[in-house]
Amino acid sequence: MSKQVIILLGPPGSGKGTQAKLLCKKFKLKYIGSGKTLRARQKVSDFTGEKLIKVLNKGGLAPSFVVIKLLGDQLEKLKKQPKINGFVLDGCTRIIHEAILVDEALNWYEWDKKVKVFLINIRRRESFNRLTKRRQCKKCGRLIPWVGEFKKLKKCYQCGGELVTRADDTIPSIEKRLEEYKKETLKSINYYKKQRRLIKINGEQPIEDVFKEILKNIK
Ligand SMILES: [Zn+2]
Repeated sequence: MSKQVIILLGPPGSGKGTQAKLLCKKFKLKYIGSGKTLRARQKVSDFTGEKLIKVLNKGGLAPSFVVIKLLGDQLEKLKKQPKINGFVLDGCTRIIHEAILVDEALNWYEWDKKVKVFLINIRRRESFNRLTKRRQCKKCGRLIPWVGEFKKLKKCYQCGGELVTRADDTIPSIEKRLEEYKKETLKSINYYKKQRRLIKINGEQPIEDVFKEILKNIK
């Protein structure tokens, strides 16, 4: 496979994080997720680090300029690794002006010819069910999605720990996330759609079938 940049979009609970991991493993791509990056940034004790803790703990979103600045820093570092195969971008395009700035950054760092944009689509009802019913291991923190075989699990398959509902998976916070998606992320999706860059994947099938559908569109 030639060098590749994969942008993943999808409603909350669509399983794009899982697909990102599978893609990174298969093609030896680097994972660039805004969630992971922001969690790391929170640990720096400066104004932004401390403010991110406050804002994100209240369920707020990090401002776009912070998300994009952190992405730029990461892309700059990747330029020092010429052998890298590419990366998967997860979560830096939640709103339309982030999508535009991500394009600018990819263009600046000369990845723009290698970008594929996927939407892992599930219906709102399915999103809601997956988010209200998914569980987390109390011991190791692993998230257990509400899909396929995982629904039957009684204990964590990794460590045997007890499975509980995640603290921030309350109905009001889930509704807030779904509303945010409808209000903002759909505009970003339309931005790619209008340019005929959006590849739609049916997210309501088993994890391995979603993955196969994505793979059909790569190479
Ligand atoms: Zn566990």
